[in-house]
Amino acid sequence: MKVLYRSDVARGPAWQQLFSQHAPDVDFRVWPDAGNLDEIEYLIAWQVPPDFIAALPRLKVLFSSGAGVDHIDTSALPSHVAIVRMVEPGIINGMLEYVTMSVLALHRHLFDYQELQRQELWQPIEVYPPSTCSVGVMGLGVLGQAVLERLGIFGFQRLGWNRSPRALPGVRCFDGDGSLNEFLGQCDILICLLPLTVATRGILGARLFAALPAGSSLLHVGRGGHLDQEALLDALDSGQLGRAVLDVCDPEPLPAGHPLWRHPRVVLTPHVASMTQPETAVPILIQNLRRHQRGEALLDEIDRRNGY
Ligand code: NDP
Repeated sequence: MKVLYRSDVARGPAWQQLFSQHAPDVDFRVWPDAGNLDEIEYLIAWQVPPDFIAALPRLKVLFSSGAGVDHIDTSALPSHVAIVRMVEPGIINGMLEYVTMSVLALHRHLFDYQELQRQELWQPIEVYPPSTCSVGVMGLGVLGQAVLERLGIFGFQRLGWNRSPRALPGVRCFDGDGSLNEFLGQCDILICLLPLTVATRGILGARLFAALPAGSSLLHVGRGGHLDQEALLDALDSGQLGRAVLDVCDPEPLPAGHPLWRHPRVVLTPHVASMTQPETAVPILIQNLRRHQRGEALLDEIDRRNGY
């Protein structure tokens, strides 16, 4: 089995070491030390230049080294090449940490206190129980479901919106475009965990913000392409949105001087909500390689027609 890793260079040695530990029989190569490209059957990559794919005539499976596949031009891949997204405990745990941190910071007014501290103001803000605060998640996939389950520990009211119907314990679930406004109208904190597709690009726009309760907050951990940044600024400046915590933007990095850098009610992090952790990702990837070798269905293969 010939596997090529062509992703974050700094993490290459860790992947190599874990493969030699867990699957010493696999011929695991790290770019640019790839040997004969004609032999490569499996590729683990983030950005995939189309001309590079053309140099891999035996390629069977492309494993995205990170969550999501929106960065991959799937039309440039031969139809027989399967595309697998990254689903592994390290990514889920990272997202749980980031979302919990942000929701609690919003709910407990941490960002307001940062401002008050800068002004040397000792000014308590009323604390309400989490049961009075509704948190809604767009996208009830692996991450959206995990996030809603975790937030249940604190006692928040929980809502979810998804393409197809879902039934999650303790969560009021909505599905389809027809129920979007009803869902949005009940979200004090809205979390976006959708994949970026033709259907979801620009979904966080003026109409969506107008459907939220006045003063609600946005926690955006999906993709920059979901967000209309001008509409966000308008909604913040009009008071329709109280705060925004953004882990993603478009383009990344945000250009110097962009108003989101300095907006007093925006917290911006550089796309770090969660990342693939080689220690937890490699065993899962090896399991998937073995499945493919045995002729079994791959786990977490994307449906090219849906784009995720
Ligand atoms: P999944 O594929 O498991 O879940 C996606 C969910 O979104 C599915 O439940 C799907 O519904 C739903 N969905 C897709 N399209 C629509 C639509 N048009 N309307 C409503 N619902 C829709 O993905 P994950 O949970 O693993 O990841 C979600 C996203 O999180 C990633 O694609 C990525 O963009 C983002 N992410 C960001 C990270 C960061 O660091 N900021 C890190 C990791 C992920 P259905 O089941 O019906 O198809």
